[in-house]
Amino acid sequence: MTRCLLLSMHEWKQQHAPREPHVDRVHLEVGTFTCVEPDQLVVTWSDAVKGTWLDGSELVIESVPLVGRCVRCQATYSPDAADGFRSPCCQHPMEEIVSGRELRIRSVAYGFEPSPAHVPPTTPRPTAAR
Ligand SMILES: [Zn+2]
Repeated sequence: MTRCLLLSMHEWKQQHAPREPHVDRVHLEVGTFTCVEPDQLVVTWSDAVKGTWLDGSELVIESVPLVGRCVRCQATYSPDAADGFRSPCCQHPMEEIVSGRELRIRSVAYGFEPSPAHVPPTTPRPTAAR
């Protein structure tokens, strides 16, 4: 997971060549319906970037809630694991997920000295959850 992130960041850096951006923060969207443990990921990240060009950057995780859509009445709802993720309207099993499986870089706060800018990466890469 962290490897994929680092790879995405590396590709992002290439787009700025030959200038080297100094990254302050990486904002990551993480759906609650992924296997990713945000706290764990933040720790793994700070370890993984030590000594690299991303050293000192902070991973900021933004949680995206799980939202399902009932295929019968098109209503969106917050699926509950205790309820088997069924729709509250018709007790229909969850078939369509509107959000909650995200795992992508939303934006990168960076600069080229001295003033940091807040610009989204040009190619956000959705990464499949494992
Ligand atoms: Zn329904």
